[in-house]
Amino acid sequence: MKKFKKPAMLTMTAVLMSAILAACGTAQEAKPVVEEQNTSQQQQQQEYELNFQQIRNATITLEYGGQKFLVDPMLSKKGEFDPFLPAERDDRNPLVELPMSVDELLEGVDAVIITHTHEDHFDQAAKDQLPKDIKMFMQDEEDAKLAKELGFTNIEVMEEEVAIDFNGVEITEVDGRHGYGETAELMGNVMGVVFQHPEEETVYLAGDTVWYEKVEEIIDTYTPEIILLNGGENHFTGGRPVGNLIMGKEDIYEVYKAAPEATIVVSHLEAVNHWGLSREELKNFINEKGIQSNVLVPDDGESYTFE
Ligand SMILES: [Zn+2]
Ligand SMILES: [Zn+2]
Repeated sequence: MKKFKKPAMLTMTAVLMSAILAACGTAQEAKPVVEEQNTSQQQQQQEYELNFQQIRNATITLEYGGQKFLVDPMLSKKGEFDPFLPAERDDRNPLVELPMSVDELLEGVDAVIITHTHEDHFDQAAKDQLPKDIKMFMQDEEDAKLAKELGFTNIEVMEEEVAIDFNGVEITEVDGRHGYGETAELMGNVMGVVFQHPEEETVYLAGDTVWYEKVEEIIDTYTPEIILLNGGENHFTGGRPVGNLIMGKEDIYEVYKAAPEATIVVSHLEAVNHWGLSREELKNFINEKGIQSNVLVPDDGESYTFE
């Protein structure tokens, strides 16, 4: 893991100011005031806004280190593709509309991250409507091949635990497990992504994964201040694959226990037919546990700015 240093400018300015003040023989009591003002001005110049917006299902945007990332675009209109079966509900997907137009959503996007190519993360509408030259990060050659065949021309394949510099933002692929046992194999490869920047809090986007030892390891390694989880407890009924495909409330609680200081934001809720955990049930659960200030459950379209 790369450790970031405080920006050199900050330290330099403080040292310089002290030197000047010492040289001028200025009254001692004036010194801390000048330093304080100067430091806060410098910080303001260096700061970026960290914005998260829940769009729908796993589709989110993250403005981070001056870059806007669009994650896992599912852009279909309500009911445009088949349900995931067998499941308790057989409604067509997505279950709800986007909270904004596709044009609005794509405005200002610098890069798209596709954690894996399941229909609810990269659907036909996204394949059709994303600009073919948009910068796209994908988890492996297999997914990149699929995107290339669709005509995308600016794909970068990520490699596990290898940081990529994207205009000053470091993004690192981390592992995920899309279900338990055999189910995970059937669901295929997935990734999470860690975002780091010298002036930003570290963000861990877990992607479609259940809670397992690797998630804890990632939390220990990167000590993220913000953790984005896919927590809809999505699952199939009968036959195979069995068990939850992504996190449920108990998994979310495990993440909280592993990172009690972090802010956890839960996504991938109530937008595709095989969901098993509603926002209401999750909110009741986190209220019972008394962790409602640690775990946020945004509605579609809702956004958060982190200082
Ligand atoms: Zn998936
Ligand atoms: Zn999913």
